[in-house]
Amino acid sequence: MPTNPIPSASIVTWQEALIQAVRDPSELLELLELPKSLLPQAQAADRLFELKVPRSFIKRMKKGDVNDPLLRQVLPLGHELIETDGFSHDPLAEAQSNHTKGMVHKYQGRVLLVVAPNCAVNCRYCFRRHFPYQDNNPSRQQWQAVFEQIASDSSIAEVIFSGGDPLASPDRQLQWMVEQLAQIPHLKRLRVHTRLPIVIPQRITESTLQWLTGSRLKPVMVIHSNHANELNGEVASALAQLQEHKVMLLNQAVLLKGVNDKLETQIALSERLFELDVLPYYLHLLDKVQGTAHFDLAEREALALHQQMQANLPGFLVPKLVREEAGESQKTLIW
Ligand SMILES: *Cc1c(COP(=O)(O)O)cnc(C)c1O
Ligand code: SF4
Repeated sequence: MPTNPIPSASIVTWQEALIQAVRDPSELLELLELPKSLLPQAQAADRLFELKVPRSFIKRMKKGDVNDPLLRQVLPLGHELIETDGFSHDPLAEAQSNHTKGMVHKYQGRVLLVVAPNCAVNCRYCFRRHFPYQDNNPSRQQWQAVFEQIASDSSIAEVIFSGGDPLASPDRQLQWMVEQLAQIPHLKRLRVHTRLPIVIPQRITESTLQWLTGSRLKPVMVIHSNHANELNGEVASALAQLQEHKVMLLNQAVLLKGVNDKLETQIALSERLFELDVLPYYLHLLDKVQGTAHFDLAEREALALHQQMQANLPGFLVPKLVREEAGESQKTLIW
């Protein structure tokens, strides 16, 4: 079966790249010249959480290598069908702190807004693979209620755009939200957590920079990159634009067995991030979500890896090793 040619990134808008993402496991296997024997399990896991991966991200993978660290993050596997003790469907009990539609206020001084219900890529390890997004797509009026609640609580200094992936939303919606938020006097910072500049770097446009850097709120972007191979020239240019507009850039990674659990891999990621003027912020232990146990690294192994990172990298290139725990009012540092 012939597959569509991969269009060059320069002529594809981010919206087109989003629509053209590969969603068919057999197409992904064909593009990467992988054995068809992987198909039945890929299809079975795809039914639990659909495959979705932009073509520009696929281009960074090595053909014929089922263990490619970028592929591992997106390829549905039979392992996901295994139910494992100690892994749940809502490990962070977010269902409980999700009182106002669209808003999660769990941490002192910061509120997280679920800006977009979807992502540009479906990561197999995602802690939100079972999250009730459909119930969480607020209308304009519901956003007004969120803004009023933020306005009434002067302890809140920072708004975090999260998701899903907030950059899956159109710039005009984001522009509107930032305009409303900038009117709340006690807000200082706007933080955006996103994987879109990694998987579809052309997402960063003039109109993105406009809402992100055009208000009085100081912008911070936390990109989510797990491996240095993700950070190609196109990503570098997108990040350079943000940098030029004084957006502070940080990175958050998830520690994943078979993807980035080797010392060399973590060193390469930190070094590449530094080249691109991004500082490593967090290295998250996996949230124990059903279907992700094959990515899990024992806490003592994670700690040993982190200690080796400390021995081999300057302190500012060592991300904090953390875990999120239900009901805690901050991320838990692992020692
Ligand atoms: C991670 C997180 C934050 C931000 O925490 P930082 O330690 O400031 O990065 C805020 N709210 C929620 C619900 C979070 O999960
Ligand atoms: S981009 Fe983030 S929220 Fe979206 S699927 Fe991947 S890990 Fe989950």
